[in-house]
Amino acid sequence: MQSAFPQRRSEEPALSLAFPSEMAASHWPVSRDVLLETGRQEYLDALPIAGAVICADGPGHIWIDKSNRHFRRIAGLDGNPVDAPIADARLMTASEIGGRVEAFIISDAEESEFDSGDGTVGGRHFAVRFARLRPAPYAPYRCLLTLIDRTAQVDTERSLRAEMLRDSLTGLPNRLAFAENVELLLQHPNFSEGSHAVLVIDMARFSRVNECVGAIAGDELLIAFASRLFSALAPGNVLARIGSDEFGVLMRLDTGLDDALAAARRIKEALVMPFRLSELEIQVDCSIGCALVSGEVDFAEEVVRNAQFAVKRAKDNNEIHVYEPHEGQAARRLFSLETELRRAIENGQLTMAFQPLVDLQSGAVSGFEALTRWERDNGDHAHASEFIAVAEESGLIVPLGRWAIEEAVRTLADWDEKAGQELPLYMGVNVSAVQIARDDVAAQVSAALAHHKVEGRRLTLELTESAIVRDPERAASVLNGLKALDARIAMDDFGTGYTSLAYLQRLPIDILKIDRSFVSQMMTDRDSFAIIRAVLSLATALGMSTTAEGIETEDLARTLGYLGCSHGQGYHFAMPMTADDAYAYILSRSAPST
Ligand code: C2E
Ligand code: MG
Ligand code: MG
Repeated sequence: MQSAFPQRRSEEPALSLAFPSEMAASHWPVSRDVLLETGRQEYLDALPIAGAVICADGPGHIWIDKSNRHFRRIAGLDGNPVDAPIADARLMTASEIGGRVEAFIISDAEESEFDSGDGTVGGRHFAVRFARLRPAPYAPYRCLLTLIDRTAQVDTERSLRAEMLRDSLTGLPNRLAFAENVELLLQHPNFSEGSHAVLVIDMARFSRVNECVGAIAGDELLIAFASRLFSALAPGNVLARIGSDEFGVLMRLDTGLDDALAAARRIKEALVMPFRLSELEIQVDCSIGCALVSGEVDFAEEVVRNAQFAVKRAKDNNEIHVYEPHEGQAARRLFSLETELRRAIENGQLTMAFQPLVDLQSGAVSGFEALTRWERDNGDHAHASEFIAVAEESGLIVPLGRWAIEEAVRTLADWDEKAGQELPLYMGVNVSAVQIARDDVAAQVSAALAHHKVEGRRLTLELTESAIVRDPERAASVLNGLKALDARIAMDDFGTGYTSLAYLQRLPIDILKIDRSFVSQMMTDRDSFAIIRAVLSLATALGMSTTAEGIETEDLARTLGYLGCSHGQGYHFAMPMTADDAYAYILSRSAPST
């Protein structure tokens, strides 16, 4: 017999506690189904998010059985709280939610979640969830639909993304956005090879200008520069700021590469007039590199890098340079060399070789030149001129150079200690133009000398002419700093660069090292011989001493000594050797002959 009280079955929720007492009093006794339905509605109403129970009794016949007020508001269901056909809810017809719930409800799936499309629901975004409910007598298919409003989150994400893609100074797209543009182009179904190009425009001397005029005026210049670039471009071209003083242009080529070259020329023309910044007039030039957008790259960023590679080339010859794929291979090889060299420096894998510098009059060893050596992971010995060039290009020359100074001074101190006295030897260390420009070489030298208690007069810094030609004022101040430490300065590879005689006279240079190319040919080539004689007399006139590099024969040693060259270096005397071998060499040379 049916009880007057609804029987609670274990699978049904306990309703009695949630049931309002007045209602119980006025409607009692009520059927169990009514109680259940009321309870379900109450749960829905208690939810802080939009929720509705959707029912169907077969494909095509689907309705909103119950819903809470949040749902009704969002769905546009006015005054129809129960049993509304889903077509009554604007939400269902205007967005994909209607179609998806219809598909879900008659499927076997227990649940499904997705983000509602792009603001189709009254401009808002929802996280939509369907969860299957047990069949009811009146509906074999039922599910709970909930909506969580994610509009604020999506808007924040969007504005953050917009920020992330924009350069805040110029308002232009930044590098990320630029690469995305290239990516979109590559993905486009109508993309064809060679139909577009990327130009990279590098502002010349920006860091110097920035240093001189200050950051605010520097920013102003960047903005004005960007605006000139913009004015030189055709509509539809994408201009972006892809580095501190680098801009990128993505452009369509209607008549091939000539379009890119014409755009590059227009950009150059737009920069002919100087920029006016408050009181100042600044002439700004640029280098331009170009790369065709090609589907052969693995990712869009590579196209930008190719154009950047071309811009480096453009800097060398002041022309607009178009990237050639084979250049990239060489660049990648150098890049992997750079990565390996960085690791070698960090892991202390570099070593130092020492080559004697011999007094050509007495035959005594006066000193050594310290030359860096690098045994690569594959066991090969890298050529110093090659890895030094990579180090200069990448900036690794700064840590490498510091290490070289320290290692050279340490070795000299070590030899003194072994000998139990200060040896009458000096040590030559090479210093690159990039070190002069970027590092405080005098401070490094001073620290190494102090640390190992070695006197400055025993150290010679070998600089190439490029170190002076690049920035004579800075070179002068570094050289004076080194002289203040009592160190000596040698001009390395003399004759191969373009040092003006005025610099030689003005700068505190002690030694001219005559380049090997003249020495090796002097016996067969009259010009080389004449140059050597001229260099020797120049050195005498300027009060400098001379070292001839690359002496490979006894004949050369004797002739150079006869001509008045003070020192020599070369395989004829000894190859560069380890510190221990060099010390043994010193001992053998100073042992009294029997
Ligand atoms: P460099 O300073 O002119 O050094 C002399 C170069 O000539 C050395 O080459 C040496 O091994 C080589 N050499 C010496 N005698 C002879 C000879 O009789 N015949 C021939 N064919 N060669 C001779 P290495 O060691 O390959 O160094 C090449 C260049 O790399 C150096 O030229 C120097 O400019 C640079 N370098 C080497 N170590 C360092 C370093 O620690 N720092 C910097 N900045 N540059 C370095
Ligand atoms: Mg040298
Ligand atoms: Mg040299």
